[in-house]
Amino acid sequence: MRLILLGPPGAGKGTQAAGIVDRYNIPHISTGDIFRKNIKEGTELGRKAKSFMDQGLLVPDDLVVEIVEDRLKEDDCKNGFLLDGFPRTVYQAEALDKVLEKMNSVLDRVINVSVDKEILIDRAVGRRICKECGATYHIQFNPPAAADVCDKCGGPLYQRADDNEETVTKRIEVYLNETQPLIDYYKQKGTIVTIDGQQSIDKVFQEIIAALGA
Ligand code: ADP
Ligand code: AMP
Repeated sequence: MRLILLGPPGAGKGTQAAGIVDRYNIPHISTGDIFRKNIKEGTELGRKAKSFMDQGLLVPDDLVVEIVEDRLKEDDCKNGFLLDGFPRTVYQAEALDKVLEKMNSVLDRVINVSVDKEILIDRAVGRRICKECGATYHIQFNPPAAADVCDKCGGPLYQRADDNEETVTKRIEVYLNETQPLIDYYKQKGTIVTIDGQQSIDKVFQEIIAALGA
């Protein structure tokens, strides 16, 4: 299963990705996670990406495309993958098409998780992530059993540096200008399905699975 999760920041892509990759036994490739890992490890890539991420801007296309191309060549992508947060521009989508063509591969589905703009800021600002296993919570909508402790592994929860109101507002604006046009791009290819992301986490998951036909 070769999938893309599309949607604005805070739509629930990461939350749904966890269940999807479990079910289909495919790797979860989040470009945002790759950049955050590089920032944590102090790499050159992390240093370059950080200044854009802190401002809520997109990291330049050429940096992102190269990372994804390398990642898709790894062995664990042979039976499929779930891209989360990539592509984010028409340039990236066209580059992905070329990469897949070179690999004699095609996308099965683009899952577009749709959420109104007004809800996204609350979702992102209340987001908390486990430092150890990456599980995602929300202080109000999906809280852990004990405050700031991961239910799954007991690790400490943290708030992303870019999950403040000002940066999230910028990220939503960037999404509307740069990423939303991809909905039409994939409509023309006939691969996209739109899911109402304002339902419960479980209901969204059920609808995604139903749309994937399994
Ligand atoms: P994205 O990866 O699209 O930026 P996340 O999956 O990290 O979004 O979700 C953003 C925040 O919203 C998280 O705190 C998550 O717990 C919460 N969330 C995700 N899906 C839902 C939902 N269906 N209803 C309410 N809150 C949700
Ligand atoms: P995310 O974790 O998907 O919310 O992404 C966090 C940030 O990482 C974004 O605001 C961008 O700065 C950067 N980023 C992640 N994926 C991409 C991408 N495909 N293209 C450009 N920038 C990206």
